[in-house]
Order: sequence, then C-alpha cells, then structure tokens
Amino acid sequence: MTKPAILAVDDEPEVLNAVERDLRSHYAAEYRVLKAGSGQVALDTVRQLRQRNAPLALFLVDARMPQMSGIEFLSEARQLYPDARKVLLTAYADTDVAISGINRVQLDHYLMKPWDPPAERLYPVLDDLLGDWTASFRPPFEGIRVAGSQWSPKSHEVKDFLSRSQTPYQWIDVERDAGARAQAETLSPGLKRLPVVFFPDGTSLVEPSTRALAEKIGFATTASRPFYDLLIVGGGPTGLAAAVYGGSEGLRTVLLEREATGGQAGTSAAIENYLGFPSGLSGADLARRATAQAKRFGAEVLTAREVRTIRADGPYRIVTLEDGAELSSYALLLASGMAVRRLEVPGIEALTGAGVFYGAALTEAAAVRGNDVLIVGGANSAGQAALSFARHARKVTMLIRGASLAGGMSQYLQDRIADTPVIEVLADSEVTAVHGTDRLEAADVATGAARAARRLEAAAMFIFIGSTPRSDLAAGLLERDPAGFVLTGPDLRVDGRLPRAWPLERDPFLLETSVPGIFAAGDVRHGSSKRVAAAVGEGSSAVGMVHKYLETV
Ligand SMILES: Cc1cc2nc3c(=O)[nH]c(=O)nc-3n(C[C@H](O)[C@H](O)[C@H](O)COP(=O)(O)OP(=O)(O)OC[C@H]3O[C@@H](n4cnc5c(N)ncnc54)[C@H](O)[C@@H]3O)c2cc1C
Repeated sequence: MTKPAILAVDDEPEVLNAVERDLRSHYAAEYRVLKAGSGQVALDTVRQLRQRNAPLALFLVDARMPQMSGIEFLSEARQLYPDARKVLLTAYADTDVAISGINRVQLDHYLMKPWDPPAERLYPVLDDLLGDWTASFRPPFEGIRVAGSQWSPKSHEVKDFLSRSQTPYQWIDVERDAGARAQAETLSPGLKRLPVVFFPDGTSLVEPSTRALAEKIGFATTASRPFYDLLIVGGGPTGLAAAVYGGSEGLRTVLLEREATGGQAGTSAAIENYLGFPSGLSGADLARRATAQAKRFGAEVLTAREVRTIRADGPYRIVTLEDGAELSSYALLLASGMAVRRLEVPGIEALTGAGVFYGAALTEAAAVRGNDVLIVGGANSAGQAALSFARHARKVTMLIRGASLAGGMSQYLQDRIADTPVIEVLADSEVTAVHGTDRLEAADVATGAARAARRLEAAAMFIFIGSTPRSDLAAGLLERDPAGFVLTGPDLRVDGRLPRAWPLERDPFLLETSVPGIFAAGDVRHGSSKRVAAAVGEGSSAVGMVHKYLETV
C-alpha cells in the first residue's frame, strides 16, 4: 500500500527545507514527506493525491504566505482530505491568526517557529496527531472508484457494467462522502454530470459511455481482423458456448456483445438447475468462467459493441455496428436472446434507474439494506430476486397478478419464499403508478379481487414481467414468428413448404434460419426452452452446423 503523505508548505525555501529535513529524519519509514513552496502548488499536489486516492495524514503549513495564506490553503485542502490533521506554523506575532484558524478550519495545532529542538517541540506534537489519525484511518481502496449519486440512472448503469464484467470497484455516494464530493466537483462542476469514475493510474472519466469504460478497463472492443469464419451476435450463455466451441475447433470466431457478457443469466443471483453445480452458481460466475474459456480457445470477445443490422451479400454475412463499422464472416449466429418487458405505468420513466430496476440489479443490494422493496412478477427470476433481497431488505413485497405463486414458479422457490418471513406475497395485484421526486418513494397498487387501491412505500422496485425476443436487427431479413422469435430448421416450413426465398436444394439445418449460413440459437429462437442449459446446448450444437455449412462455401 502507498505510504500516507505528510505535506509541508512554506514559501521560505530555507524554512521549507528545514521542515522537510526534520520530518524525513523522523517519519520517512512510515510516511511520504512532500513539500510545496506555495499554497497554490500545495493545492495542486493535494488534488493529484486525491485523484489517485492516495492517503494524506497531515498538513504542516506556514501561516503567513503571499497570495494564499496558510488558513486559506487549509480551508480548500480539507475539503479534499477532511480527516487529515492540520498544523499551522506561526511566528509569535501571528498567534491570533492561529487561534482564529482553530475555529475556521478546525486547526488541530499551531507550532511556533523555530521548533528547535524537534525532539522536544515538533515530534511529540506530530506523533500524537499522527497516532490519532492512524487510529481512525482505513486504507484506501486501490482499484476503480465510482463517485455518484445512489439514485442516478447513469450511476446505476456504470455500476451494472462493472459488476457484470466482474470488475471490482468501490462505490462512493457523493451525498455521504464530503472528500469524494469535493474531488468529483473538480471534474464535474456542480456535480451536473455523474458518476465520475476514478482509475488507479490517476485518470478519470465523467459520465462515461459503456464503451469508453470498457476500453479504459482494457476490454477488447475492436475486432482484430475484418473477416471471420463465424460471427456471433450476443454474449449470453448461447453466444459464449458457441464462442468456446468455435474457438476450440479452429474457426476464426468473434463474439459481439452490447453490454458485458452473461446475458440474462448474468443477472441471476443463483442458477440452481445447471448441470454439475449442485449448490448452484451465480450468473456472473458462469459468465466470467465462460468468457475466460472462450478467450483461451482464441475466440475474440468484444464487449460494449452493439450490432444494429445484419445483411447477406453473396457468401458473406455482414453486420453493422453502432458506430457504423462493419464486420463480415462466412457464417453468423444470432444469439441475441431476450430483453425484459417494460412496465408501462405513470411516473415510471423518470424513476427507472432511480429506485425502479428491471431484473435483479444485484448492484443495488446494499442500497436496499434496511428498506422496503417491491418485486413485481411471480416467475422464477422474481422468486430468486425476492430471496436474494430478503437478506438485506427490511421487508420484501411480491406483487403477482395470479392468485398464488403456484402457476409460474418452481416448487423449491415457492417453499423457500414461504419459509422467509420478511417476504410477503400480494396476490391478484398490479402496479398502477409510481411516485418519487428524485427516486422511488412509493407505488400505487390495485390488489385483491376488489382491486382495492393501496399505496406501498418502498425504496426500490425490481420488475420481472417477462421478456420479448431481441430480433429487430434481423427484421426484413429472417423469418420470424408473430411474437418476433426467429424461425429455424423445420419451423420454417409452412404447410410443408420452405419459404420462397430459401435458395438451396437442401433443407435448412436444425438451427439455420431462412438465410443460409445465418443460424439462431437460444432464447431468441422460436421454440427454445428458455433455460441456461438449453442455451448452452444450442450454442454448442450450432457450431457443428456451422462446420457443415462452411464445407459448402
Ligand atoms: C433473472 C433471471 C434468472 C434466470 N434464472 C435461470 C435459472 O436459474 N436457470 C435457467 O436455466 N435459466 C434461468 N434464466 C433463463 C436464462 O438466463 C436464459 O434462458 C439464458 O440466459 C438465455 O441465453 P441466451 O444467450 O440465448 O440469451 P441472453 O441471456 O438473453 O443473452 C443475449 C445477449 O445478447 C446481447 N445482445 C442482444 N442484442 C444484441 C445486439 N444487437 N448486439 C450485441 N449484443 C446483443 C444481450 O446484451 C445479451 O447479453 C434466468 C433468466 C433471468 C432473466
């Protein structure tokens, strides 16, 4: 860990050098002794330290300096390091300044110049102050820090990307941490743009896009070549499985994922029915392992890249990305899965990300601590989330449309919910409106057979009301069912006949779409099982079919 700093500030070079010499001879083993010849230079140093989240234990500052006095410096510097101890060096005549400083900047001590001998007049005072500081000092987090507002949608988005991509970070609520607020203010005046993300190398990003964040962290976002054998759209279980098999079987494979890898499964707190994991595994863990495995086999995994359109041009399958860039391949697998269905009630738009969340939003677990939480929906994913939040929340209320959980939830989850006293299930209920100024405060609910109106106060609401296929990017190109799921293999036949546009003699392979060489697998495919194991199975099987297809081009 970086040693905490002691910063000496004096405009007279001989005095400054003498202070520095005395400080070093006594404290160099445990502290970094820094010096500055003016208040302004010292403030720059303090800002740089703060930017790197380096600890600072003590300021030792001359009272009388031209341009910026010692007290003026300390009143600025303590915004950034509120806990650092503050000592003023004064001449006898300046005692009044020092005494007023005690009130103005909560001065801890003032030392009269000269301080000889230091063993008697300097070290005992500083030892005492530093001992005090050390007792309450918590070593700073040395990784990425996200300073934002708990209830800002953009802060939630950044946290969500970091946690989904398994990047450790420290969350700092600017409303609660004065030092972080002051630091963020220097980069985002008035805190109009949040969050501010600080990196260990001293750089920062203000309100970053997912792509900027991904690039800064070191995730690949740019393809290494323009042409591949297999291009996979979507990094959920289906796409990841295909990338593992594609890579391991020697295909030049690239996977494009619009967020972090993991897909819907990545948002699951505990997947308990996946083969080989008797005590379950979290979706994030599955995503991390699968992504590492795909890369190990040589597949390129690009995150924070969204495919906007797909087209076929002779033997080539071409995708256009969100920035207009294009990539092409011989074969393409559409593994874009499903997107959560939105709840449409008054007030919800403004509060989404500010207390209202789609999916489990596990990054918000700490924020719900001790608060009341609403879960909307009664399927397995809602049940898993209710059990997960029940560990932190004061009360969890599940709002379900049906008369009981029995219709849509696995028995093991129903049993656990029944055994968890903090979870209440409100049957025959639906949300009619949400309220809150900057963040969710309450939801109106119509409940029971009589649809009685109730207002439930809550700090957070997590919504699980089903999903729709993400297949718009294939509209007009691929055959889809009325709900938007992509048709493949035998499902393409209507009244025993293949679509007129199908150009080949042979039948489409089982997971092949109405365009030869474009495959669809996992949740986006019509008739798929909507399970992790099934998605993994389809993703891997698709690669076998890609091989067969490649033999023909
Ligand atoms: C909360 C929750 C809990 C679940 N729990 C379980 C469980 O316990 N057991 C179980 O078997 N199943 C569970 N499921 C279901 C399971 O997660 C899904 O069946 C599985 O994730 C489907 O995988 P997929 O890869 O086909 O699609 P998805 O998981 O939906 O992944 C698709 C990916 O494609 C990306 N994408 C979409 N469009 C584009 C584009 N245009 N460009 C680039 N990328 C794009 C998305 O961002 C996403 O990452 C759960 C689902 C949820 C939501």
